[in-house]
Amino acid sequence: MFSMIDPDVALQLILQHSVISPPIHSVIYDCVGLCLATTVVSDVDYPPFDRSMMDGYAVRLLDARNTVNIIGEVAAGGSGENSVDAGTAIEIMTGAPCPEGAEAVVPKEDVTREGNRVTLPAEIRPGQNITRRGAECAKGATVLNAGDAITPLALATIVTFGIEQVSVFPKPTLAIITTGDELVAPHETPGPSQIRNSNGPMLVAMAQSLGVSPTLVTHARDTMDELRAALAQARTCDFIILTGAVSAGKYDSVPDALREFGATPIFHKVTQRPGKPIFFATRDRQLIFGLPGNPLSCHLGFHRYVASAMRKFMHREPFPAGATGTLAVPYVMKGPRTVFQLARAEMRDGAWSVTPLLGKGSADIYAGAIANAMLRIEPGSGTLAVGTPIQFDWLLGAI
Ligand code: AMP
Ligand code: MG
Repeated sequence: MFSMIDPDVALQLILQHSVISPPIHSVIYDCVGLCLATTVVSDVDYPPFDRSMMDGYAVRLLDARNTVNIIGEVAAGGSGENSVDAGTAIEIMTGAPCPEGAEAVVPKEDVTREGNRVTLPAEIRPGQNITRRGAECAKGATVLNAGDAITPLALATIVTFGIEQVSVFPKPTLAIITTGDELVAPHETPGPSQIRNSNGPMLVAMAQSLGVSPTLVTHARDTMDELRAALAQARTCDFIILTGAVSAGKYDSVPDALREFGATPIFHKVTQRPGKPIFFATRDRQLIFGLPGNPLSCHLGFHRYVASAMRKFMHREPFPAGATGTLAVPYVMKGPRTVFQLARAEMRDGAWSVTPLLGKGSADIYAGAIANAMLRIEPGSGTLAVGTPIQFDWLLGAI
């Protein structure tokens, strides 16, 4: 038998048993959202040539205020044959390589053109509107460091240097196993004592919001045989999430099935509401989460525990930044367990106004359907008045 543990101890134990995945090589386009495992170094100067930043005229500085002859043009992707000498200008487009002799590019808007002659402004700064070769990134410079996230901008930077294969910390493989004789698929019409399986799609969506697509999503009825068969299919996954059959009921066979599967239980109950009977086990490097079937308990189990371990696996910060707001309505804290309360945070007059969404217990997802935030309230907090400052986490997929 396991004793109940504190929610912070539970999280610590999970992170202690979590592994950071070894890096893999992958094509960059599949890696957005992942973290780099190596530095990216530029092998060329960037830009690769002196580049014009404006549509205008490449000129010599001593020609400020003069009227000069336009002796040619150079467009983006083109190359000018002529060089700029005193008394001449070359028309140039944004992104084009500057011709030899160009000391500045004067924007089109700052000149007066008549036929093939152009009168330049009185003041021309040296190097004006020219990005010199290597000025943005010199050959050999570090573009990104190991651990940096591959955002769309990072991807654009990496492909600029012709790199399409990178070393990254990969996403985990994941199996989701729902359990329960009473459950039918969402497209089915439930019988008199049946309900639709909503935890399965919710867990898939939560994983996807971390960029993780489950390798296996399956359902087991409440028999050892079906659980065994489902676990057998999940045996090579980095993460296994089960939902339901994890408490002390007669048909709650997940803890026994996991022991038989060769898993080592780490804890079974956490002093929290919702989600008290959460079961956590490991099997070699595999992390196994038995989440209660009640939808809010299941949601909290992923939000607080599974997501942190998954982020760590991918070498990301386990806890994303939350925010602070003030309570829009009073909140009455009851009971001896830490409460994780769904809430809606709305921006009002430049600050987050937070409304707890009180449902009718951990089976009630309807009140939570518009939630975007999670509050944490400790036992003994009493009644929190309107305006009380309160910290919150953003829900997965809500921002
Ligand atoms: P359990 O943890 O198996 O005792 O289930 C607790 C409650 O959650 C029961 O009312 C179940 O019907 C419900 N439940 C279990 N699994 C799911 C699921 N996948 N989707 C929706 N409700 C569920
Ligand atoms: Mg059940």
